[in-house]
Amino acid sequence: MGKFPYFTEEHDAIREIARGAAEEFKKTAEEADRNHDYKIIYKNLQRLAELNLIGIHVPTEYGGEGLDLVGHYVALEEIAKGCLSTAFSFNTQRLGMDAIRLGGNEEQKKKYLIPACGGSIVSFATTEPEAGSDVSAIKTTAVKDGDKWVINGTKHYITNAIFADTHVLVAKTDPEGGAKGFTAFIVENDTPGVKMGKVEVKMGATATPTTEYFLENCRVGDDAVLGTVGGGMPLALSALEIARIGIGTQGLGLMQAAMEQAIAYAKERVQFGRPILKNQAIQFHIANMSSRVEITRNLLFHAAWLKDQGLPAAKEAAIAKLFATEECTWVCNMAMNVLCGPGYTTDYPVERFLRDTKVLEMGGGTSEIMRMIISREEVGKF
Ligand SMILES: Cc1cc2nc3c(=O)[nH]c(=O)nc-3n(C[C@H](O)[C@H](O)[C@H](O)COP(=O)(O)OP(=O)(O)OC[C@H]3O[C@@H](n4cnc5c(N)ncnc54)[C@H](O)[C@@H]3O)c2cc1C
Repeated sequence: MGKFPYFTEEHDAIREIARGAAEEFKKTAEEADRNHDYKIIYKNLQRLAELNLIGIHVPTEYGGEGLDLVGHYVALEEIAKGCLSTAFSFNTQRLGMDAIRLGGNEEQKKKYLIPACGGSIVSFATTEPEAGSDVSAIKTTAVKDGDKWVINGTKHYITNAIFADTHVLVAKTDPEGGAKGFTAFIVENDTPGVKMGKVEVKMGATATPTTEYFLENCRVGDDAVLGTVGGGMPLALSALEIARIGIGTQGLGLMQAAMEQAIAYAKERVQFGRPILKNQAIQFHIANMSSRVEITRNLLFHAAWLKDQGLPAAKEAAIAKLFATEECTWVCNMAMNVLCGPGYTTDYPVERFLRDTKVLEMGGGTSEIMRMIISREEVGKF
């Protein structure tokens, strides 16, 4: 890995630490999946905090390691090889933290990022029953009443919310304001009026908790405003762009886990008197998987590098996310073809991989939304 142009010795060291953690998480991944056990994922997040992996990209004065985004994605890639539910929760923790890092004032960054690097959980919410891909359809309102904001609404499909100490959310503050009518808020979980709803039962990534929550006359002060009043949408989209590369990176980790499982199985499984790996058809499946892994790695770390340089990366992040997640599904499906019957049973993790991969195509913006971003960037040039 050290020879890859985007990686330094520091990144190699992070990879080693994350690889060790991933090996630990791998041991409970099947149990966590089977029992939809988000307590295991919470424990894993605490372990990542102990290993100083949560705050890799957070400046040291706010409790982090002060390294680059590439470092975060290196850790995430490894974690996704061990347990996708943990990786998904890890990346979403970083999404909430990134919103605070990008939009927070000095006091907010100290108050929330230092504990978050140490394992205090931060959720991030734009999504609502009527606002999925179309975030401008957000119905949650925040209305000024004296020196307080009164927030009312419902957020759903929110990762980690069930065990979060802090929620970053976007609410409508000016119904006539168009794109400038939204503001981001930091709402502490013990604020009266914050109520958790159901935890969704999902097809894959079953142990990362996905929750609905309600805000009923939650009263918060101006110190809960994240960034500027009216600046919620660009702030959320900037944080989401970083998380998007992270979702692709989970695909990179997961596709490698699937490929490794396919190779190991094909070496052992004997049919027609020889291991199935001796057949060129199977070798070509492996070649096709490997090609996708390498292309994905280049796309993702190029996008990450652009972000680290402070260069525009909207198109590159969208391409990397689109390719990584759709091709991860392709690779997991191909791994299933190699294992065939046993792959379809819970004796092997490939059926879990195939269920887990699907959420990556949705979270952080769907494949259709990625194509819209890419095409908008291309068409805008002419
Ligand atoms: C496990 C999980 C965890 C999640 N975690 C979070 C979280 O932590 N925080 C958060 O805020 N959200 C979260 N989400 C929500 C996620 O971001 C949304 O599911 C996603 O943005 C899509 O919204 P939707 O599901 O309502 O689909 P919709 O927006 O209703 O889309 C349905 C279909 O229509 C397509 N579509 C929509 N508009 C267009 C268009 N203009 N052109 C072409 N096609 C279009 C979509 O691509 C999709 O195929 C999570 C979702 C899941 C499943």
